[in-house]
Amino acid sequence: MSMWNPWRGCKKCSEGCLHCYIHKGDDKRGINTSDIVKTKDFYKPVERLKNGNYKMKAGMVYLCFSTDFLIEEADAWRKECWAMIKERRDCRFLFLTKRIERFSDCVPDDWGDGYENVVVCCTVETQKKADERLSLFKSLPIKHKCITVQPLLERINIEPYLDDIELVVVGGESDKNARVFDYDWALDLREQCIRKHVSFEFRQCGTHFVKDGKEYKLQTKDLCAQARKAGIDYIVQR
Ligand code: SF4
Repeated sequence: MSMWNPWRGCKKCSEGCLHCYIHKGDDKRGINTSDIVKTKDFYKPVERLKNGNYKMKAGMVYLCFSTDFLIEEADAWRKECWAMIKERRDCRFLFLTKRIERFSDCVPDDWGDGYENVVVCCTVETQKKADERLSLFKSLPIKHKCITVQPLLERINIEPYLDDIELVVVGGESDKNARVFDYDWALDLREQCIRKHVSFEFRQCGTHFVKDGKEYKLQTKDLCAQARKAGIDYIVQR
């Protein structure tokens, strides 16, 4: 598994961005997150060792996890990224986006029905965003589609949008002022996935976690472990 952040910085664009961990981390270091700048890792996938092999190993590559791959400010740079993605067919590039409405304007000319080595995760947090983004996502030519529902802010129904989805990831919000996350909402999404035979992963609890009507305050360090402990993941073998 590798990380590739060809640029850094992002702009809040949705309710789910309120407690964005990128902004929080940058604030602590005195960095302005709204400045979208190329990083020294821009050409990371095609850098080579002295022996001619690629430095970056084959396998999964998490792309733009400190920004949004489809952000407008990076439009001039994305073409080169697609060329590197195309060259590295031995890697599988996965990116999350809250800007799926920009997708068709951001793909390369030869995208066709999608590159086999690209996984796109559309992120939603409320029913309104799910209806807006997932109805569009459903129609897009992408070979591998996932949905990230994090932070989940209310009970939502995404079942009409689950055809062709490989995985749904669900999680709560992590912040001292986090909005409430009700375990029942996650269980509800799990049921939707099971009915549609789609893999489901409960990635993290929320800081303000409600279960059976009781509210708990969880430590950030425990959020993922608590979700794993719930043991409610549902994996479809493909
Ligand atoms: S889109 Fe993602 S990275 Fe960008 S501000 Fe929102 S939460 Fe943060």
